[in-house]
Amino acid sequence: MGLDCLAVVQPGMSIFSPLVAADNSIIDLAAGKVRDLYNRMSSAYDNAAACYGFSCSGCDENCCEERFYHHSLSEFLYLFRGLESLDEKSRQGVFIRARDVLQLYRIHDAEGMVRRVICPLNIDGLCSLYDYRLMICRLHGVPYKMRMPDGTETQGAGCHKLNWDMSSEKNAACMFDRTDLYRELSGIEIELRQKLGFGHRIKKTIAEMITDIDELFFYNQTMTDL
Ligand code: SF4
Repeated sequence: MGLDCLAVVQPGMSIFSPLVAADNSIIDLAAGKVRDLYNRMSSAYDNAAACYGFSCSGCDENCCEERFYHHSLSEFLYLFRGLESLDEKSRQGVFIRARDVLQLYRIHDAEGMVRRVICPLNIDGLCSLYDYRLMICRLHGVPYKMRMPDGTETQGAGCHKLNWDMSSEKNAACMFDRTDLYRELSGIEIELRQKLGFGHRIKKTIAEMITDIDELFFYNQTMTDL
């Protein structure tokens, strides 16, 4: 299925409804760039983790239970491609779990509680769309630094479960520099948004993205059946 199959905009659809007439070749080009960037991201992360001697193995806490927000259209569309790659039964299972997760978020938010909820893509502790997992899934864990557009540098602590060696010597050798990776994703994002004429601000959990994708799949199926 391609997004260009979605021919009609329905009132009340998500912010992604403007994509109904999108050119698949634009999306495929961006998806190829995202895949290439993701691969380099993962190997850069592995190098930093190895430098710190960091490993997730044996940890009793699952990072896939944290409520992260995602902001890029290019990652949304790459996740869309990932869900396309699943068989129908698996995909429907993800859609159901995503709706369940959103229901739990609503309950927890109403209670004013922050509770951990497992990502709808996680099955038995493993990511069921590992090759399509989002940027933060690939970068979360090791201490990082990033140069901001104004020239200042921001730093982030690593996983809270560990006592990191944050000596200047260690950080100089190992700290994960996200700057160029973020900059590259930003370039892909800007180009994609310009080509698709997409101007919406995105702040969504994976579960929210998945329910938006569910809507697009549903709508495409409806159009195909007409
Ligand atoms: S997408 Fe995969 S790696 Fe990321 S939180 Fe969900 S299950 Fe975990």
